[in-house]
Parts: sequence; structure tokens; C-alpha cells
Amino acid sequence: MRFFLLLLLFPLISQAQASFTNSKDTLLMGSAFTFTAIHSQDKQSEQAIIAAIEEVVRIEELISSWRPSSQTSQINKLAGVQTVKVDYELFQLIERSQKIAELTNGYFDISFASIDKLWQFNGQEMQMPHPKILEESVRLINYLDIHLNQEDTTVFLKQKGMKIGFGAIGKGYAADRAKHVMLSYDIENGVVNAGGDILAWGKKSDGSSWNIGIADPNHKSEIVSSLQIEDQAVVTSGDYERFVLINGERFGHIINPKTGIPVQGVLSVTIVSQTAELADALATAVFVLGEKDGMDLINHLNGVEGIILTDKNKLLYSKRITLNRVDEKSN
Ligand code: ADP
Ligand code: MG
Repeated sequence: MRFFLLLLLFPLISQAQASFTNSKDTLLMGSAFTFTAIHSQDKQSEQAIIAAIEEVVRIEELISSWRPSSQTSQINKLAGVQTVKVDYELFQLIERSQKIAELTNGYFDISFASIDKLWQFNGQEMQMPHPKILEESVRLINYLDIHLNQEDTTVFLKQKGMKIGFGAIGKGYAADRAKHVMLSYDIENGVVNAGGDILAWGKKSDGSSWNIGIADPNHKSEIVSSLQIEDQAVVTSGDYERFVLINGERFGHIINPKTGIPVQGVLSVTIVSQTAELADALATAVFVLGEKDGMDLINHLNGVEGIILTDKNKLLYSKRITLNRVDEKSN
């Protein structure tokens, strides 16, 4: 009898068995990444994190416009000259970027990158570029000039001097892929923090949901809001990390593709959505669109929520974000 009781108890005990939370910080894609994996076997979560890191390294090699050997660099080098055959994975990332460009009337545009040479966001003082130079550079920004050929997965940038870059979407994509890899290692509860782009799934080891605090751009150690998420991404775009000063005024690293000038008016945009890629791209797009058009876009999209903090320190919440908010009162 006692024997049977023990047998019956065993599955219960093993279910309640302590789960290990493994966490690893590392520098990837020029940003601080943290991988967190929960599993009943320590070794399993460790291996999952190692595989996730390898996956991000692989993606960086494929998509980075900083690495001369990447396929993205090949596309940029041969702009206006020749089509470039790329992996289907990169082709699809460009295709999805094009869809977001369409959705945002071109305010999100991976071909913003040719303007990079005009702006060095190193926190130093600089002069506003001459209007003629800005005009010249803006001419090279046009997502419609990124020609894609489905049949042979080739990419052609129509104009010489054009450049594409995935600064506003790449980390989100990498986070989604890292989660995918961790799931294949049976990690049903985990978090990928890709330089502040957060993707969480399942629950914490104590069974509660993940809480994500959104940093106050004015006081980095404080939070302006806190969101509870289960299988979702929370991504914040802000102007507080990479910026330049012009006559003492701050200009962040998100650029209006129509003017070539960094956007002002918004301090930070947070997007909650199913995938980190979409949240990443939309956070940047809404930043450019500004508080009104940006919030209209968020409210029109299913499964997308957001918070905008304006430079007047006004916090705006999307319609259904109450589902996620831990602090309902600060609206
Ligand atoms: P972070 O890198 O801080 O997470 P974002 O996701 O908002 O911030 O990405 C900002 C980066 O996106 C810039 O550094 C630049 O590489 C790129 N970028 C800037 N403006 C645009 C734009 N209008 N459309 C697409 N990408 C942009
Ligand atoms: Mg982004």
C-alpha cells in the first residue's frame, strides 16, 4: 500500500521539482543581450542559451551592414550597378521590412541608411547639414527603389549610393529567432532581452507572469509604466542613448526619411506585440510618425498596443493596453 502511494506521489513531486533559471549576458549586434531560460534541468537551459547565442551571431553575419562580408554589404556595394543573389532568409526580412514601409507610408524605411554618413550620433555638438546636402541624401531614401525578385531571390537597389540597414528591425528579428531556437530545446518559459527589445514567453519559475518595466528617459533608474506579459514582446525606442547636439538641442538616432533630419517631439515609444520584429519596427515607425499619427496607427492594428511619452512628458496609452498594465492609475 505504501509502495503505491509513493508511486502516485512521484509524478506530483517531479512536477513540483525545482526549475532552474539560467541567465546569460553577452554583447551581440553592438548591444547588451540577456538570455533567460527556465527548465527542470540546468544543463538543458544552458545548452539552449548557447544555441540561441550562436543563432544571433549567425543572423548578425548575414544582415549587418557594418560587416563588409555580409550579404547586406554586398547589396549596398552594388547599388545602382547589379542585382545580388541573397539567402531566402534575408530576402524575406527585406520583404517584411517593405510591408512595414507600406504600412507606415515610408516613415519606416530600411533605405534610410544612406543618410548615416551625415549624422554621427556620438553625443557631440554638430552643425545642421546644408539643406542642399539633406535634399541630395533624401533622394536616395525610397523603399520603392528596393527591387526584389521572388523567383531567384535577388535584390537590387535602383540608385547608386543607396544603402539599406536593419538597425530598426534586426534586433527584434534576432530575438524572435533566439526564442525559436530555445523552444526547440524545450524551453517553455524564457526571456530574450535584445538590447532592450524584450521577448518573453511562458511564466517565471514561481508561476507568475513576466513584468516589464519601461524606463523613464528622464531618470533612467525609474520606470514610467509597468506591463505584464505572457507570450509577447515589449520594445522601446528612445532618443536617449544615441544622439547629437545642434545648438545645444538634442537629436536622437531615428531619422525622418522624408527630411533626412532626426525626429523630435517624442521621448520614447513602447510597442507590445506578438513578435519582437514587428514591435521593433513599429516602435521606430511610431517614433517618426509622432504622437497623433503614431497612436492612430497602433490603435488600428490588431494585436498591437503601445505607449508614447512625448517631450512634454505626456504619457499616451493605446486603447486596449489596460490588458497589460500593472499600474492602471498613472494615465
Ligand atoms: P534601438 O536601436 O535603440 O533599439 P530603434 O529600434 O528605434 O532603436 O532603431 C533605431 C535605428 O534604426 C537607428 O540607429 C537606425 O539604424 C535605424 N533607423 C533610423 N531611422 C529609421 C527609419 N526612419 N526607418 C528605418 N530605420 C531607421
Ligand atoms: Mg526599432
